[in-house]
Amino acid sequence: MESKKVCDTCGDSSCSAAKKKNDESPEEYTDRIKLLSKMCRIQHKIVVLSGKGGVGKSTVAVNLAMSLALSGKRVGLLDVDIHGPSIPTMLGLENKTIEGTAGGLLPVELENMKVMSIGFLLQNQDDAVIWRGPMKMGVIKQFLTDVEWGDLDYLIVDAPPGTGDEPLSLCQLIDPLDGAVIVTTPQRVAAVDVRKSISFCRQVHVPVLGVIENMSGFVCPKCGEVTHILPAGGGKKIAADMKVPFLGAIPMDPGIAKSGDEGRAFIQHYASSPTAILMQEIINKIRSTDKTKN
Ligand code: ADP
Repeated sequence: MESKKVCDTCGDSSCSAAKKKNDESPEEYTDRIKLLSKMCRIQHKIVVLSGKGGVGKSTVAVNLAMSLALSGKRVGLLDVDIHGPSIPTMLGLENKTIEGTAGGLLPVELENMKVMSIGFLLQNQDDAVIWRGPMKMGVIKQFLTDVEWGDLDYLIVDAPPGTGDEPLSLCQLIDPLDGAVIVTTPQRVAAVDVRKSISFCRQVHVPVLGVIENMSGFVCPKCGEVTHILPAGGGKKIAADMKVPFLGAIPMDPGIAKSGDEGRAFIQHYASSPTAILMQEIINKIRSTDKTKN
C-alpha cells in the first residue's frame, strides 16, 4: 500500500517530526506540518538579533543576505522587525507590494534573493504598526508558513530587537535554527543587553554564531584616522566573558548610512572599501559555520 504523504517536502511517513504529538490539537498539527514543510526546504536558517534597536541589526542582515546571494546562494531575507521594518528602504524596495497566489504570498525578488517584510504590507511608509501580541505572533508565523520561499540555501531573519515574545516565537517556530548573530554597539549600556541576548539564545537552545560590534570607531574618510566616538571593545569583552565567538568590529562609515538611505546594499556597491572588506571577513566567519558551504 502506498504510504500516506505526511509533509510536502519529503513525504517520509517515518519522519519523527511529522508525527502528531499527544498534546496537539488537529489544527495545531496541521499548522505545524505546514510550517515544517516550508522550513524543511531551507537548508540554513540564521537569525540576526540585537538587544536594542538602532545598533545596525538590519544593516548586518541585509549585507549578510546580499553577500550570500552574490556568491550564488539562493537566499531568503525575512524582515520581522515589526515596529521598524527598514529592509525595504535599505534595498530600494519601498514601493513594492506583495502578491498573493493560491500557493501563498510571493516574496519580492532582488538579485538571487527573495525578500519579505512587514513593511510591504503597510499601505503608507509612515504607518505605525499598532498590534497586540497575538497579532504580531500571527504575522511572524504567517511569514514563515504562507510565503512561497521555495528551495533556499539560506534564510536570514532580521528579528525584532530585544528578548521579548516576538524573537521568542521566532526562535520557537524556526526549529532548528542554525544559530543567531548578535549585533551590538561598543558602549556598556548597549553591551549589557548583549548578555541578555546571549542568555536568551541559551534558554531557547539557539547556538550563538557570534557577536558583531558595530559602529566601533569612526574612520575619517579624509585621513583614515580612527576616532572612538563610543568607547570601543564592549562587544568583544562580553563575547569573551560569555564564551561565544567574536566575529569582528565594523566601524562607523558614512558609506553604510548613505547606501542604506539610497536603497543599495553596502557590500555590493562599496565592495572595495576597507569597511566592506571587514564586513566580508565577518560574513566569511559566519559562513564557515556552514559545513556544507563547499
Ligand atoms: P537596527 O536594525 O539595529 O535598528 P539599522 O541597521 O536600521 O539598525 O541601523 C540604524 C541606522 O544606522 C541606519 O541608518 C544605518 O544605515 C546606520 N548604520 C548602521 N551601521 C552603521 C555603520 N557602521 N556606520 C554608519 N551607519 C550605520
